[in-house]
Amino acid sequence: MSDRTFAPRSAKRCYVRPKDADVDRELYERLSLSGWNNVLKKLTVPARGGLAWELKAGQTCRIVTAYGPQVGDLNIWNLHDFRERFYSGKTRAIHRGHLTTSDRLWSSFPYLRPLATITQDSLHQYGVDEDGCGLHDVIGTRCDPYTHKLMTGQMGKITCHNNLIKAVKPWNLHESDIHDVFNVFMCTGIDKHTHDYVIKGSPAQKGDYIELLAETDLLVALSACPQGDCSSPCGQPVPESSCFPLDVYVGQPDQDLSQEWIRSKF
Ligand SMILES: [Zn+2]
Repeated sequence: MSDRTFAPRSAKRCYVRPKDADVDRELYERLSLSGWNNVLKKLTVPARGGLAWELKAGQTCRIVTAYGPQVGDLNIWNLHDFRERFYSGKTRAIHRGHLTTSDRLWSSFPYLRPLATITQDSLHQYGVDEDGCGLHDVIGTRCDPYTHKLMTGQMGKITCHNNLIKAVKPWNLHESDIHDVFNVFMCTGIDKHTHDYVIKGSPAQKGDYIELLAETDLLVALSACPQGDCSSPCGQPVPESSCFPLDVYVGQPDQDLSQEWIRSKF
């Protein structure tokens, strides 16, 4: 059999670019500042645990690595219709494999609209590193007991998948409602030569943050990944001492600004 050769083809970028993918950066910056100046509540996602909370349209939610480098696995639903939920794959197609300020979290079919907009990212300067890796991943998935069993022969008990299930139980949601996550603070990429999915330890330090603004009323669930900063080899146990809680600040921008934001949507 002869070796096949392929003619070079040009790459086509951004095949999906809805008009709603572009945000008014200046307005969202003001909303973020105003929300941060009026924090309604502070929550803490326990180390290796999960938590869910409601976020009303127009409110901000800042997730902070307050105690050390820590990856978080995030799920989002429309609070009034749980069938509408975050769609990781389409978000990746619309933006890229790693999200930052002004990118949006898009919802599942048939809704396909922004559920939230990223208003702050203290790590945005990380960009794309020498290995092609970036931060805040929508390429990968979440740690779960089933994959763990495939790798080790044993069911993992503490995983993001389980944490998310437990966190949303009070809203009567179940395992089937858990979906592909937005991996905040996670450093990942696709190897240029092998196309393997690669993971690096998160470069987040104490005090780094990413912030979302709810485009509609939301239920948000977050797991502080039991893999910590995800620097340990997959399937290997991670010491509890290298897993940290994540702090969450829910902010309410002032009324005039919120009205301006509502008008901007129509
Ligand atoms: Zn995890």
